[in-house]
Amino acid sequence: MLDKIRSYLEERRESMVKTLCDLVSIPALSPEAGGDGEMKKAKMLVRKAKELGLPLPRWYDCPDWRVGDGARPNLAITLEGEDKSRTFWIITHLDVVAPGDLMLWDVEPFKPVVKGDKVFGRGTEDNGQEIVASLYALSFLVKEKIKPRFNVSLAFVSDEETGSNYGMLHLIKQGVFKKADLVLVPDAGEPDGLFIEVTEKSMLWLRFSVQGKQSHASMPHEGLNANLVASKIIVSLHEELYNRFNQRNDFFYPPYSTFEPTVREKNVDNINTIPAKDVFFFDCRIIPSLSVDQVLDFIRDRAGDIAKSFGAQVDIEVVNRSEATPYSGEEDPNLKLLSSCIKDALGEEPRIGGISWITLATFLRREGISALVWSKRDNTASRPNEYCRISNMLKSAEVFTLMMLNL
Ligand SMILES: [Zn+2]
Repeated sequence: MLDKIRSYLEERRESMVKTLCDLVSIPALSPEAGGDGEMKKAKMLVRKAKELGLPLPRWYDCPDWRVGDGARPNLAITLEGEDKSRTFWIITHLDVVAPGDLMLWDVEPFKPVVKGDKVFGRGTEDNGQEIVASLYALSFLVKEKIKPRFNVSLAFVSDEETGSNYGMLHLIKQGVFKKADLVLVPDAGEPDGLFIEVTEKSMLWLRFSVQGKQSHASMPHEGLNANLVASKIIVSLHEELYNRFNQRNDFFYPPYSTFEPTVREKNVDNINTIPAKDVFFFDCRIIPSLSVDQVLDFIRDRAGDIAKSFGAQVDIEVVNRSEATPYSGEEDPNLKLLSSCIKDALGEEPRIGGISWITLATFLRREGISALVWSKRDNTASRPNEYCRISNMLKSAEVFTLMMLNL
């Protein structure tokens, strides 16, 4: 069967590349990233699916009046299985991140260019390669008239890069996923294709606002320097958080939690003014065995004490918070299936681990659904000159097809 899958895909190599280029040519940027959403790309994808003879999609649009079409598309293409109570999902995202500084690009981000084994363009690796691979994997079953053991669904979602409220979270609210479902999110991985991501760190973004009192810089005793108080809080928290929450977990790289001050808002215009207000942010990535609440309580207490020692006040606002779920264990049938299909396709045993950022899998794991993350990629996503390898796209399609056949 493996040879048959390989030759099926190899024969379609050119049309897979064409599909990828056509999809990538449509800039599917969210309104937050200055774009008009994903609808045009979704419609193009449906045309491609139709050409491949795939079943008609089911749409789960999420209203969003900021975009021209008034909605953010989410769709699922399902091939019914023998047992319809359960579904194997491959979930990819339609949206892309903004190209960034165009001077850093050698090609135009939304005019994909093929060079040897590489296709350059924004969204080729993230997540175009896997969108196309999943379409062609399903087309193999359709062409061969194979009915899978249970339903096989491809989901294509919006808004992955900017919070998922109009994408994955909308689908979860609609009750699209069931506890017994198995999910593959091909949105992180390593160049050798042997890394399966089974857990992600928790994420906590905080906004600190320090309130002092303005004065002339030559008369500091008449004011209360919010910059100074903020600086003390930043340096102290940074040091104390790393010391206190220093548990290690070798699943992750880096294998510990991180607590980093990032944005600092502009305060005053003049060098000779003591600022009354100073606003800064922390980005915390916390290993799953640590409680986010515990970290947050500590931060509130310490920052509050430091501010108080100056006679100042600090307000802390949670800007974003995502709770990690620990690794579900080796007995997960989803993991066994994926591992054996990777071994068949690549000839080597895969390894498991965690990552320090968030994918769509986090939202599903929180619902108690088995979700794994895998991909074979050079990790050029979000960078200038993003590319994907055509050989990786074919390898993904091979692994996806094997999974669909071996449920
Ligand atoms: Zn992605």
